[in-house]
Amino acid sequence: MSSQWIYLNDRLVKKEEAVVSVFDHGFLYGDGVFEGIRAYSGNIFKLDEHLDRLYDSAQSIMMTIPYTKEEMSSIIVDTIRQNELDSAYIRVVVSRGPGNLGLDPASCSRPNVIIIAEALALFPEELYQRGLRMGSVATRRNRPDVLSPQVKSLNYLNNILVKLEANQAGVDEALMLNDEGYVTEGSADNIFIVKNGRIITPPVYLGALEGITRNAIIDLADELGYSVAETPFTRHDVYTADEVFLTGTAVEVIAVIDVDGRKIADGRPGHITGHLLSEFRRVTHTDGVKCYANQADAVS
Ligand code: PMP
Repeated sequence: MSSQWIYLNDRLVKKEEAVVSVFDHGFLYGDGVFEGIRAYSGNIFKLDEHLDRLYDSAQSIMMTIPYTKEEMSSIIVDTIRQNELDSAYIRVVVSRGPGNLGLDPASCSRPNVIIIAEALALFPEELYQRGLRMGSVATRRNRPDVLSPQVKSLNYLNNILVKLEANQAGVDEALMLNDEGYVTEGSADNIFIVKNGRIITPPVYLGALEGITRNAIIDLADELGYSVAETPFTRHDVYTADEVFLTGTAVEVIAVIDVDGRKIADGRPGHITGHLLSEFRRVTHTDGVKCYANQADAVS
């Protein structure tokens, strides 16, 4: 197998050479931002939206990314090409960079920019057929006025803690509530419920990341003629929903069939969830920033 190429500060290096300092504040303090992006058949899905979110996250933590969005976009395309990838998961990390042991970012002279592109380990199709089991956890979502969930920072401890709780409880994914008990999201995905044909997702101000898949699904559902609303809801609404599903770059659209031991409807993935998943997969394979001049150049 040929070596994996990683983009690290202005150049593509072999995986073995892609190392950063232990003094990087991304490592010492979780000080930095990141994105998870996906390419389908040589098309990078919603690249501009991902870059907007990355640069907004950086702006919020007062970090200057040393490239323009246009430069970053072509670096990502180059990284995919260099690795001869067609469908890929792309991780972009911008850390504060090496400094001294104090937490003040003033000692960090330049951010580290890292892009990793690799063939995607797809979730087994069986999981989409079966659906996930979800459980609510004691750990609450970060309050937006403490560390905003809109900052996709390297500090993911809130999400890691809920994932640990879900593991302990023996469920596939955690249901995170905010400090008032309203449903926010999963550990790394947004949540939707369907009730009487109406698709509902929590407004992001309650404490959810504004997921790019979430927004794509809202638009798609709207185009398909479904009624979609961003409305606060509680666990009761989840337990009594006709369908529950999660969205995210990695997971796309996946049904939830059990929440806190309550079977959702008949315990099988719902029709609207299935419809949205198949339409989403159709769109992702055609839309997006092209990595290769023509499809024939794409490596399958
Ligand atoms: N919420 C959280 C906390 C996440 O980490 C993610 C993954 N980025 C999502 C939701 C889903 O967002 P997206 O659709 O942009 O991947």
